[in-house]
Amino acid sequence: MSITSKSIKILWSNAAGRCSFRGCTERLSVEEAEGVTPYTLGEMAHIKGNKLGSNRYDADQPALERDGYENLILLCPTHHTLIDKAENEAEYSVELLHEMKQEHEEFVSNRLQITELKSLEQLKDKIAPYMAENHQVWDQYGPMSENARKNPNSDQVYALWTSERLSTIVPNNREIKELLVEYRALFSRKEHRVVSKFIKHVESYEQWVEDKIPYNAVQRFPSDFEDLILGE
Ligand SMILES: [Zn+2]
Ligand SMILES: [Zn+2]
Repeated sequence: MSITSKSIKILWSNAAGRCSFRGCTERLSVEEAEGVTPYTLGEMAHIKGNKLGSNRYDADQPALERDGYENLILLCPTHHTLIDKAENEAEYSVELLHEMKQEHEEFVSNRLQITELKSLEQLKDKIAPYMAENHQVWDQYGPMSENARKNPNSDQVYALWTSERLSTIVPNNREIKELLVEYRALFSRKEHRVVSKFIKHVESYEQWVEDKIPYNAVQRFPSDFEDLILGE
């Protein structure tokens, strides 16, 4: 058994590519992991150990569950080492690790503090920083970036783009979508069409995370949505 790309994508996007250890939240990057192919990057630690003799190993756990999303927690190298040290087995129990994972995922999905928005301008102000961050990631790591054009067949460059999609774009899109769904009424009838296109794009991105479609089947980001949010 090995960890499937689906488990990895769900884990990375739910954790926004950050260490889930309480109080850490270090941003993980494939740049640190040399010579790895996409999806084998980072430190996906097993909550119940992955082999006999590992901390928290449960002989009765089916192999499929052992390598599944539920049994994995995204950690920085320091914290992965810490929880797997034999003498720390009792301290970092299965229950505690599940607790930390849940706390971290809640922190990621609640980054957005929704205070009542009253106007379209306020809504745009809330969305704009997420859009700007996504745009920056696209410029820096996307297929049109300088790096990608210089190294069109580099696994390293592709791995970086994959991890940035999972760590930044997917979690940001979830926040944007939440805002759009909640405040849809603030848009004019004409604008709804563009909003819908963006939501479709986000939903197809999620299908890629769930391994239901390949990345090249994700509906393209509608640039008129960016005009709508950032334009005058
Ligand atoms: Zn481990
Ligand atoms: Zn950490």
